[in-house]
Amino acid sequence: MRVLIVEDNKPFAALVAQYLQRAGFESDRAESLEEAEHATSTMTYSAIVLDLGLRDGDGMELLRMFRQRGDSTPIVIITARHGLEDRVRGLREGAGDYLAKPFSIDELVARLHAVMRRPGKLLNQVLRAGNITLNTSRWC
Ligand code: CA
Repeated sequence: MRVLIVEDNKPFAALVAQYLQRAGFESDRAESLEEAEHATSTMTYSAIVLDLGLRDGDGMELLRMFRQRGDSTPIVIITARHGLEDRVRGLREGAGDYLAKPFSIDELVARLHAVMRRPGKLLNQVLRAGNITLNTSRWC
């Protein structure tokens, strides 16, 4: 299982990588949206740990880009933003989960396992059976 950690705080990203390794995950790190886009264009990850406050933009842009192109790689947002609005926005944009900093690394590991267990292939697809249509990307 290989995870991409998108986080501009180097020591923090290194710490997360170290703990994830102990939990059996290999990981790569990206410090910016640009690096994350490059990494994900050359490698398929089991999941992405995504910080929102990046130096070249909002991590939410990466999430949106993934979902728009139909990429269902599970994404767990980690951010210092605590607002309910941000949390709801992240989940609506297709994040698998959302963790507010500071968080316990055990919780991150548990949530990574949880999002990777979910079937992601149905994301952003319209399912049809007879005259019934279900758009799995809309929930309201
Ligand atoms: Ca940050």
